[in-house]
Amino acid sequence: MSQSNSHGVEETITSLRARGLRITPQRRAILQEILNAKGHISPPTVARAVQARMPGVNASTVYRTLTMLEDLGYVSHSHHEAGAEYHRAGEGDHVHLICARCGSQDALSSEEERALARLIGRHRRFHPDLTHFAISGTCDACQQQNGSR
Ligand SMILES: [Zn+2]
Ligand SMILES: [Zn+2]
Ligand SMILES: [Zn+2]
Repeated sequence: MSQSNSHGVEETITSLRARGLRITPQRRAILQEILNAKGHISPPTVARAVQARMPGVNASTVYRTLTMLEDLGYVSHSHHEAGAEYHRAGEGDHVHLICARCGSQDALSSEEERALARLIGRHRRFHPDLTHFAISGTCDACQQQNGSR
């Protein structure tokens, strides 16, 4: 999907340098956290991990770097229960289903996603971006625990 999808940290750094960006140790640490994360990672989690390795790095530096990496197409964000979450570019193209009680995450299949987009499209030809915001709800396990159906 994306040109940077299968690239590791070193390839990404080479590509950023080729675009004229200076790779500071902070930027390298931020890239390592986000590109090695499994699934999503929130900006505060990136900031905490980088600060654990490099005390003195400002959270705002981390957030600015995430925005820069997103503008350049290396990462993307979507909105979940607790705020924005980042993935590598090309890995965020799915409809997130997030349980508001236990935080468990799931995603629609591409057929389900297309069916949902078609359904919404019947409403005045509205074209939804289903991947940008997660769908909040209650997972099956939590419904059974609480006996609320
Ligand atoms: Zn957004
Ligand atoms: Zn995702
Ligand atoms: Zn749940």
